Amino acid sequence: MFAKKQFGQNFITDKNLILKIISLLDSEPDQLVIEIGPGQGALTKVLVEKYRHVLAIEIDKDLESFLKAEIPNNNFELVMADILTFDLSNYLKNQKKIYKKISIISNLPYYITSEIIFKTFLNSEHLDKAIFMTQKEVAQRITATVGENNYNNLSVAAELYSHKKYEFTVRKQMFNPVPKVDSAIISFNFNKPSFNIGLEDKIKVNEMVRKLFNNRRKTILNNLGNLIGDKSRAQKILESLGIDFQLRPEVISTSEYLQIYKLVGDFKNED
Ligand code: SAM
Repeated sequence: MFAKKQFGQNFITDKNLILKIISLLDSEPDQLVIEIGPGQGALTKVLVEKYRHVLAIEIDKDLESFLKAEIPNNNFELVMADILTFDLSNYLKNQKKIYKKISIISNLPYYITSEIIFKTFLNSEHLDKAIFMTQKEVAQRITATVGENNYNNLSVAAELYSHKKYEFTVRKQMFNPVPKVDSAIISFNFNKPSFNIGLEDKIKVNEMVRKLFNNRRKTILNNLGNLIGDKSRAQKILESLGIDFQLRPEVISTSEYLQIYKLVGDFKNED
């Protein structure tokens, strides 16, 4: 079976790596595990042996009969769909009544990494954990902490929704076909989030932070001034929070962004 580039197919071949990734999930067997992109079932085959139910969502129709034949287990459910259009929210709401825990796992198709991560965040109130393989650089950016060079809006988003962790690096030779760059595993724990604000507000904070990072070389004052179209008001907001005007967006913490958001109120929604 040939790997399809347009679906971001890079299959894991190493059994130890598969076990190491799966060991990051909670060991509670009464769990629904959702796998995005099962591919040829490398992770899936192990998951069905460990957990009460496994839902796999796969876009590539050519893999359907193969997966069904390889994994005849009763607790395996295969949905042929695009994860980006799949109604995850509705599905999770119903399943939450049945299982003690729900987690997501994926060796992500890299061309839609951020879309899938954001979709996961938006549904995180129903989830316990997410374990994702991404390109190494992306993993480093998402798990960066304030003040680090690669700290950006994705790092802030991850902090708003979860406790995030860079788990380990995976060399590119572990895949077939071998991709251009190394990968890494990151985990998100959604239990006990650090910031107790509603989903609507989280979405708006993310949007604000994304815009404030549009020009990461400019000061927070200039970025905030541009965002709200009023530099002197931006100055007053930062002053009242004791935030130095000259700072760049990458040294502002998630809790400071939350405070800024509370004072900014509405901002224009176009870029
Ligand atoms: N889990 C397998 C493994 O680790 O060997 C395959 C991982 S491969 C990097 C990504 C998988 O996601 C492929 O099976 C691909 O067909 C699937 N995929 C790509 N785009 C998708 C989408 N929009 N919705 C669901 N699955 C998708």
